[in-house]
Amino acid sequence: MRRRPEASEPVRSCIGCRTRRPRSALVRITRSARGVTVDGASDGRGAWLCRSADGVATECLDAAITARAFARAWRADVAPSEYVTIREMAARRQRVH
Ligand SMILES: [Zn+2]
Repeated sequence: MRRRPEASEPVRSCIGCRTRRPRSALVRITRSARGVTVDGASDGRGAWLCRSADGVATECLDAAITARAFARAWRADVAPSEYVTIREMAARRQRVH
């Protein structure tokens, strides 16, 4: 029997709770010159957060913001307005049904 492809899936750590998970269990949030992108194509540095049933895990997002984990993941200062954008984009995803 062939190995399931997920077995070799790359593992990333959630920047909120630090849990290591396969990429498909996480949402990638990137920041580039064009701005912040949640779970979309982007060539910027990625920050990973746990994926919940309907979007980004809120507790991980809160923990990441409190710990300034986005600034570490992106190796850049993150303005308060960008945190607002991240929250809005994560919330918008959660409302998509
Ligand atoms: Zn997490």
